[in-house]
This record gives sequence, structure tokens and C-alpha cells, in this order.
Amino acid sequence: MTKRAFNFNAGPAALPLEVLQKAQEEFVDFEGAGMSIMEMSHRSSIFEKVNNESQALLTELFQIPNNYKVLFLQGGASTQFAMIPMNLLTPGKVGAYVMTGSWADKALKEAKLIGETAIAGSSEADKFNRIPSLSDIQIPDNAAYLHFTSNETIEGTQYKEFPNAGDVTLISDMSSDILSRPVDISKFGLIYAGAQKNLGPSGVTIVIAREDLVSESPKTIPTMLRYDTHVKNNSLYNTPPSFAIYLVGQMLQWVRSKGGVAAVEQYNRDKTNLIYDLIDGSGGFYRGFADPSSRSTMNITFRIHSEELEKLFVKESEAQGFVGLKGHRSVGGLRASTYNAVPLESCKALAEFMADFQKRNG
Ligand code: PMP
Repeated sequence: MTKRAFNFNAGPAALPLEVLQKAQEEFVDFEGAGMSIMEMSHRSSIFEKVNNESQALLTELFQIPNNYKVLFLQGGASTQFAMIPMNLLTPGKVGAYVMTGSWADKALKEAKLIGETAIAGSSEADKFNRIPSLSDIQIPDNAAYLHFTSNETIEGTQYKEFPNAGDVTLISDMSSDILSRPVDISKFGLIYAGAQKNLGPSGVTIVIAREDLVSESPKTIPTMLRYDTHVKNNSLYNTPPSFAIYLVGQMLQWVRSKGGVAAVEQYNRDKTNLIYDLIDGSGGFYRGFADPSSRSTMNITFRIHSEELEKLFVKESEAQGFVGLKGHRSVGGLRASTYNAVPLESCKALAEFMADFQKRNG
């Protein structure tokens, strides 16, 4: 039996053991080809099937309507911060951004390099410990799109309902909560996510976009940065991250075997409730960073009253097989990332460890 860590890494993050074992089985000889998936041409019929199957599985599980395209790109979600305004921020229009924390800020900063932007809402006054109330979001009349970050990985906040952008194209960075809950895709123009948290390994970025938005990019944009290049070539314009695309397919099959996205959503809730309940019941020993109305089911951020104790918490947790509980360097404190593939057993073990740590240090 392989000894697995209680992995709470923020990304790259835990993958299901079953997925790793299946990949291991197929690693040296993929479906009798006499080579691994990494060693074959991306133009081969075998890889083309893998590419199409990963797309089809995501379409099925996330219920993506048929007027949408699924793209597998490179450059991470960070490249999407620039590709979105390059492709969709037309002259005379503004890109509107909701400021919820570190990742929303990075998206806005890139857009500013490309064109005009506006802040449509912000929770900066509350140190980004919550999602702004939807009624406070103001979309300028000349907005090309409204961009929001559905889950702020560092602060541990998450939209429970999505903004209504009316006729304006709605765009979301779902890097840290894609496929963790059902989403009505038809409300969105474009959704993007790096795969390395909920969908597989790093190296591939998923873009789900309404066809009319991505079928004709402005002619001045370099080839690789144009959405239409990748749409026209089924994400095979150049050499794709073939192993990552294969592993995304395996991860999607695992989600299907668990009962699909709605079942995974319930599982995620059960996992995070264990930890949030413990925080709330700790009499103030542990303090959640996010306002309860905006708590993430993917990244649980919390503090202990002294930094010394936080350091001790990290040290002792590591000695007991927990990984990744130190908060992001920009906000400090502690963070447990509980993406789709993190098992309930890891969360149970963490809740027990937290209770015991409090008993010894409270
Ligand atoms: N957006 C969010 C919400 C993220 O959590 C991350 C990565 N942690 C990114 C964007 C950047 O993704 P990448 O590293 O794939 O560029």
C-alpha cells in the first residue's frame, strides 16, 4: 500500500490515487502502441482520440452547451489575463473587473497593459475577506466584458452566486474552483482555468468560450495568442501538452465515476464543513479569514492568535504527514486547499489534528 501524504497543497495539488495508478499502468505502453502517450505524435489518431475524449468528457460533465468551444491551451491562467483583453477588449470599450483579491488584481494589471479598464466592484476596504455584494457591482455602459474571479485561492473567498452582467459578456477565472460545482455555462462568454488544482496536472489551461466570441480574433494579434487559431485547429495548432491533456481526461473520468459534478459539490461541502465547524467551535482559538458569507469550499484560510503558534502548527502538522498548510506568503496564516481530489479522510485527519493542537496549546 502506497503511503500518501495528507495533501492540502494549493496547486499543483492532490490528484486521486486511482488516477495516478491508471496513468502508471498505461505509462510505458499506451493501449498497445509500444510507447507512452508522451512519445507519440500529437497528430496521431491515438492522441487525437485522447484530445477529443478529454474535451467531450468536460463538455458532458460541466454541461457545456453546443455553441461553446473547449480549448486546451498553454501559458497558464496567467496568459489568459492577457489573451482576454487582447482578443475581446475592442477600441472604445473598457474591460470591467471585480476586485476580490490577489488573482483579480493580477488579471486587471495585465488588462491595463492592453487597453482601458474599470473597477466594477471591490472588497478592498474589507481587506478582501469577502466577495462584494452583487448589488454593488456597477458595470460601465461601454464595458466589453465583466471579469470576475470565482474563487480567490489566496484569500479563500468564493462567489456563492454569480454577477448578472445583462448583455455584457461575463468572463470568469475559475482556476481554483472549476468543476467543483455545477455552473450555468450559458450565462458566460468565457471561463478559463489552469488545470493544476481541480482538473489535473499543470501545463494545460482550459478555456470554455462561446463560439461567436472566439471564432474571429483581431488580425494584429500574434498567432499563438489568438483564440481563433486554437478554435480552427482543435487546440492542435502547435505541439500541445499531451500528457497533461491525457491526465485531465483521466481526472474527468474519475469525476464521472464519483457521480458527476453535483455529487462532487456535496462531497466538497462535507469536507470543508468539517474544518469550518471546527474553526467556529474553537472559541476563537482559530479564526477564519473569510467572512462566513464568502467562505470558499476550495481554500480554507485561517489564523491562530500568535505567529509563533502558527509556525508550530505548520511544523507539527508536517511531522504528522500533512503538507501545504502554510498560508500564502502574501497574507500569512494558514490555508488548507481542499480541491475535488482531496479525500474526506484527509479533512477528517486535519480536523482531528486541529482539535488536538488546540487542546495542547489553547
Ligand atoms: N487565477 C487563480 C484564481 C489562481 O489560483 C492561479 C494560480 N494559483 C492563477 C490564476 C494563475 O494560474 P497559472 O499559474 O496557471 O498561470
